[in-house]
Amino acid sequence: MNSINIKDHLLAKGIRPSVHRLVILEYLMSRRNHPTADMIYKDISKDIPTLSKTTIYNTLRTFHEKGVVQSLTIDENEVRFDATLSPHAHFKCISCGMVTDVSAEIPVIQNNIIDGNRIVETQVYYRGLCCNCLKSD
Ligand SMILES: [Zn+2]
Ligand SMILES: [Zn+2]
Repeated sequence: MNSINIKDHLLAKGIRPSVHRLVILEYLMSRRNHPTADMIYKDISKDIPTLSKTTIYNTLRTFHEKGVVQSLTIDENEVRFDATLSPHAHFKCISCGMVTDVSAEIPVIQNNIIDGNRIVETQVYYRGLCCNCLKSD
């Protein structure tokens, strides 16, 4: 997605596309590294020192509420953000902490109804040692 499309994407979700919001969404879409708010702050504040941690937290909360990003709580003490909305499985390395997409099949639920309950969010994740950590063992 280029920056014009990112702008339209935000407008379509009812979010005013401020410069900071565009930068944060662009970051999430280009890295796909499932960062925490702190990781985003560390990276972006180098280039844009006016961007405060509070703005990043508020922006991510808005994005999540409006369905622009999904939040991953694989560990209860850490929230990760992902701009890829289609259901996909994640893998978190217990050694280096990396979170990545993995090619596991997610079951397709008809009409998002399961045993009479309506699904609004699907989270599938695995934990273990990533391929890089396995190599350096
Ligand atoms: Zn690892
Ligand atoms: Zn993901």
